[in-house]
Amino acid sequence: MRYDLLIKNGTVIDGSGMPRFRADVGIVDGKVATIGKIRDGAQEVIDAEGHVVAPGFIDAHTHMDAQVFWDPLGTCSCWHGITSVVMGNCGFSLAPCAEKDKLLVMRNLERAEDIAPEAMEAGIKWSWTTFPEYLDAVDRLPKGINYAAYMGHSALRTYVMGERAFTDAATDADLAAMKQEVRNAIRAGAIGFTTSRTRNHQTPQGQPVASRLATWDEVRQLVGVMGELGAGIFEIAGEDTGLNPDRINDYLGRLKALALETGVPVTFGMFSNRKAPDYWRSFYSLAAETVAAGGRMFVQAHSRSLNLVLSFETTMPFDRLPVWRDVRKLPLAEQEAALRNPDLRRKLIEAASQRTDERIVGAEARPANYKWLFVMDRATPPYRSVAQVAAEQNKHPVEAIIDLALAKKMKQFFLQPLANENDSHALEMIKHPHSVVTFSDSGAHVSQIMDSSLQTHLLSHWVREKQAVTLEEAVRMLALVPASYWGLGGRGLLREGWKADVVVFNPDTIAPMMPEVDHDLPAGARRLKQKASGIMATVVNGEVVLRKNEHTGALPGQLLRGPLAQR
Ligand SMILES: [Zn+2]
Repeated sequence: MRYDLLIKNGTVIDGSGMPRFRADVGIVDGKVATIGKIRDGAQEVIDAEGHVVAPGFIDAHTHMDAQVFWDPLGTCSCWHGITSVVMGNCGFSLAPCAEKDKLLVMRNLERAEDIAPEAMEAGIKWSWTTFPEYLDAVDRLPKGINYAAYMGHSALRTYVMGERAFTDAATDADLAAMKQEVRNAIRAGAIGFTTSRTRNHQTPQGQPVASRLATWDEVRQLVGVMGELGAGIFEIAGEDTGLNPDRINDYLGRLKALALETGVPVTFGMFSNRKAPDYWRSFYSLAAETVAAGGRMFVQAHSRSLNLVLSFETTMPFDRLPVWRDVRKLPLAEQEAALRNPDLRRKLIEAASQRTDERIVGAEARPANYKWLFVMDRATPPYRSVAQVAAEQNKHPVEAIIDLALAKKMKQFFLQPLANENDSHALEMIKHPHSVVTFSDSGAHVSQIMDSSLQTHLLSHWVREKQAVTLEEAVRMLALVPASYWGLGGRGLLREGWKADVVVFNPDTIAPMMPEVDHDLPAGARRLKQKASGIMATVVNGEVVLRKNEHTGALPGQLLRGPLAQR
């Protein structure tokens, strides 16, 4: 047999968790044709000596809905071995929505997910109204990786209710119209339906995003449509129960009842938190109880702390404070000059201890607690806190921050963890039987966080440095587990006859690299970018898309439609 692509001399870790073995992988027509000793020729050969050959990774929690229109590759995820993503999480999708109303949908996205409206305006050619039309638009786009899409509740509500979506409860007629759109979307291949009920999701005007106005009964009825159809997954950005046990129990009870009554798989992200260290455990118990009772529920876990990545090039904890606000408005070079002015430095240091009463939401920078603000001088932990560095240098913490930034030409990054600060909790969660390791939020929070590297962090930190997870287990976590939960058929394993989504990497060097700030979004909007070292090649549907982080020009990615559209 003559192969299209032959990956020779590698060590196969096939995604099932079984031990690694030496084999060649031969690919024909976008599928794995042979795994074994291959003597036949091929059009293209990759010598994977010393490298692992694994199924491409899958990130099921992204917000690439807008980005897919201007960035076919799916950066930054594609640089971390990702070959398929699921978008439309947390109630945020770009459909259904008519072009004339697009500003309403963007209002839902702008602050809650930190996607610049000018980038969306310049980068998206709006060619749909309904969700099925949006899927067709994505289907037609050139794509480097594969995309599956949920329909989001905020878009749906805004489509059906207009401005009332931001203020009112749904009428019976609204609800009937919304249910019909869910039905149409799932039949056309939406992977599911998502919503948000968290305070963190606000519009730029400080209003709740549209989905937060929904009653629980509205949510229940919309999810119920998927139950009737026997297809679709429900993802929720959860309610802020606080630590009130009654509210927690009420919310947990409703989630469990929803999963049992509809039969729809329910999923949500969960973090540990230093202010409520055991809060997450009740959600894992809930998943276990729900599954034991006959429902489907799984929890999305992150491989490390959820960090804001701060810098003078993006945002700093002091930006809203008087004195600071004036300096931070200036072009970066002028800020640099200002930070060298002794008088102004003194004023900035004084002002840094003030507080504003502006509400901070989502992934916006928090006021600085110097013990919980870290100097990101390398791509992976451990990091020293600003408090520690300041004490060593006998400086005020703000002075230390300013000097560090000046020494790096304003490019010094600082990490401000918001959750998952306890590494042993993070490990417990990623190993939990009801977990799936995902939740990069890739495509969103573009200048606030950089979690597209959570997969390479798992491989460098937990597998190589801590030896807390085997490489076989880690590949299973990143490929087969998400493929199975989201029903991405024929993906997530290296098997003859399965789709040839493959990542070839060096297990001794794979790691996230340092992030950088770039202004490469449409309209010059800024974002954080992060690549990985140690990945030799990324193959999607049988074609090499990336070699050593460089795009080959191939765009073999596909729209992955849900089960009802495949029959
Ligand atoms: Zn999200």
